[in-house]
Amino acid sequence: RRSPPCVLVIFGASGDLTARKLLPALERLAAYGALPAEVALVGVARTPMTDEEFGSHCRETVAATDDPRWTELTATARYVAGDYDDPATYARLAEVLEDCDRRQGTAGGRVYYLATPPRLFGPIAVSLGKAGLGAPTGQGFVRAVIEKPFGWDETSARELYADLSTAFTEEQIFRIDHYLAKETVQNLLALRFANSVFEPIWNRTWVEDVQITVAETLGVGSRGGFYETTGAMRDIVQNHVLQVLSLFLMEPPTSFHAEAIRDEKVKLLRAIRPLDEEAQIATNAVRGQYTRGGTREELMPGYREEPGVDPLSSTETFVALKLDIDNWRWTGVPVFVRTGKRLPARVTEVAMQFRRPPQLPLFPGTEAGLEPDALIVRVAPDEGVSLRFGAKVPGHAFRVQKASMDFSYESFDQESIDAYERVILDALIGDPTLFIRADEVGRSWRIVDPVLRYWAGDPQPIPLYQAATWGPPEATALMTRTGRSWRHGT
Ligand code: NAP
Repeated sequence: RRSPPCVLVIFGASGDLTARKLLPALERLAAYGALPAEVALVGVARTPMTDEEFGSHCRETVAATDDPRWTELTATARYVAGDYDDPATYARLAEVLEDCDRRQGTAGGRVYYLATPPRLFGPIAVSLGKAGLGAPTGQGFVRAVIEKPFGWDETSARELYADLSTAFTEEQIFRIDHYLAKETVQNLLALRFANSVFEPIWNRTWVEDVQITVAETLGVGSRGGFYETTGAMRDIVQNHVLQVLSLFLMEPPTSFHAEAIRDEKVKLLRAIRPLDEEAQIATNAVRGQYTRGGTREELMPGYREEPGVDPLSSTETFVALKLDIDNWRWTGVPVFVRTGKRLPARVTEVAMQFRRPPQLPLFPGTEAGLEPDALIVRVAPDEGVSLRFGAKVPGHAFRVQKASMDFSYESFDQESIDAYERVILDALIGDPTLFIRADEVGRSWRIVDPVLRYWAGDPQPIPLYQAATWGPPEATALMTRTGRSWRHGT
């Protein structure tokens, strides 16, 4: 796969995302031969830099390489210094873009990557539109790439969409969720639709429940200021979790065309019953915040002790939800979602648990609470798939214990492609499959917004959990009320 001729313009080119993710991914793409000589790089930011200084910054950021194609890309890189709301910045950018077309044959192709703080997405789009840089000219194409958060709630997401729409059509907007570009998340599609063994049992007749876990052992660290205005629901559930959930549970698409897949994802999101009533939220949604914990050797600070965090903060660092899906396939199958910081293990997985067989009493030595059979897709760590099933324990007694059949991604003799490498190339090529459509964003907010509003007005203090435990007791109660337990921890 190779990019067509175009200019990749990075807004916020002096920033952290550019340095940590975008430039390393571009270096790998250049080294792999995906960026022909007719691809140019332009940085835009307020920090004063010359073209040469920006090129050096790119090369120094990705130090461990002397690939000639990367050297060439960065040696010809251009830089526009200026305020994001100053028309002069965009006038200069227009000149630089035309110069790229003349000198490097970029043929009017433009991809604007907005790697700035999110509140600048709208103003940058509006300015690009006013400068006439949003509309394609001649044979060229114009795309805008943005990364979550896509708004802060349903209303601000709509406002952001309105701003983006002043310059771009929906087909031009590429909203990244880098989770979707992970090899294992894409493997969900292969698992379901490249095999005939799983799809027949992928429904309420066979499935008892679904559990999605995104657990981190780390706290907020130096990102306290950012996290204070975000919280676990906006940071993880509204985007990553609902995206993975919709891919895992959607109907089979009629083709692997981007729109066919995105149509099915949004249909699934629409089928998730929003938690609108206060009583529903109180029963089915749990929030929590970590307090100091750990061991004497490794004492971890509480959230309110982290730098940049309000000592009275009620921001949630943990969310557990029970969601119901009102469609033919999934009615009656609860979907449990759990994410949090400072949990005892780092694990991201989607687990489908199957109904228990009726004949367990036939195996009298078997413990009563034997966990159900399950198909587990591990996104991180140890990417792979496991099937958990009952097997006879060797010996005279007929006793059943759980065993695993495991597939590990390591068994492929090929390195996984980094998520940013994939999404940047997809954006350059114009393949929107792994990007989120506006209606998916809107629907995701529709699911989480009522819960966030309820929590914001909840007079009860936020439930607390000690660092290195599996969340507050309310999360356990959410499960035990339904006669189930979480796959990891209580
Ligand atoms: P950042 O470093 O804070 O900001 C990027 C650049 O924007 C800065 O270098 C700065 O450049 C400019 N900027 C910062 N604050 C500004 C302000 N108040 N007004 C005007 N310009 C300002 O941001 P980032 O961490 O790279 O993140 C960029 C985007 O990627 C965000 O949407 C973020 O949510 C998303 N993201 C980041 C990461 C990550 O690992 N960093 C991961 C996932 C998603 P100048 O001062 O030179 O203009």
